[in-house]
Amino acid sequence: MRIDVLTLFPEMFTGVLGASILKRAADPSLHPDGQVPATYHLTNIRDYTHDKHDKVDKAPYGGGPGMVLQCQPVWDAVQAVEAQQPDIKPLRILLSPQGEPLTHQRVEQLAAQPRLLLLAGHYEGLDERVIEALSEDGGLTQISIGDYVLSGGEIAAMVLIDAVVRLLPGVLGDEDSALHESFSSDLQGGLDYPHYTRPAQWQGRGVPDVLLSGNHAQIEAWRRLQSQQRTSQRRPDLLK
Ligand code: SAM
Repeated sequence: MRIDVLTLFPEMFTGVLGASILKRAADPSLHPDGQVPATYHLTNIRDYTHDKHDKVDKAPYGGGPGMVLQCQPVWDAVQAVEAQQPDIKPLRILLSPQGEPLTHQRVEQLAAQPRLLLLAGHYEGLDERVIEALSEDGGLTQISIGDYVLSGGEIAAMVLIDAVVRLLPGVLGDEDSALHESFSSDLQGGLDYPHYTRPAQWQGRGVPDVLLSGNHAQIEAWRRLQSQQRTSQRRPDLLK
């Protein structure tokens, strides 16, 4: 999957994309067939402004606080990035608190795309006309990571990238497989069961006997029951 990110702060992504699972997913030395599961392409929207002082934002018409990202640099950045690989049309996503909520089901759909183009807003957001124009010309999906407001779309984009990339084939090994995690179909969309590791006693607390029994059928049944109980206690909405 090719992931393009259009942002005013590409430097924010260095740590997150350069560590752990996201780094491994794009590391050619770990994928000897040359087929990396993910490639990341960061573009600074500011590189596309025509303003002689490199500005990309202006005060809002009608007054009020904050600044608004101008249409021209955003539009030109999207066109230029898409032209870098015209044979793969990306699914364009604007990170926005006004978008559809990001869910596990949506993440699974996104993981099936060959290319994502993520647009991170800043300040008060984007001029509405560029949102309209992108929506009418090729489409623009708006996605929110929750009902709260972040300073910019960068952290939301990183959340989305992390959730999507870990589902791509070849990214997680057997040890950390995503199959039995919260919201997975394996757990009927419910929450994960509790986990324990060595030592068997810690500060007077033991481990459920069944997990030490070696009886795999009983362990499986116990885990399913735990998952169901947790889900009905903590997230009954997931059972619907
Ligand atoms: N004025 C906007 C509003 O009230 O809907 C908020 C703008 S916010 C300060 C700046 C940028 O952060 C947005 O353009 C968006 O890209 C990003 N952002 C903020 N909250 C977000 C969320 N919950 N999910 C995804 N992106 C978010």
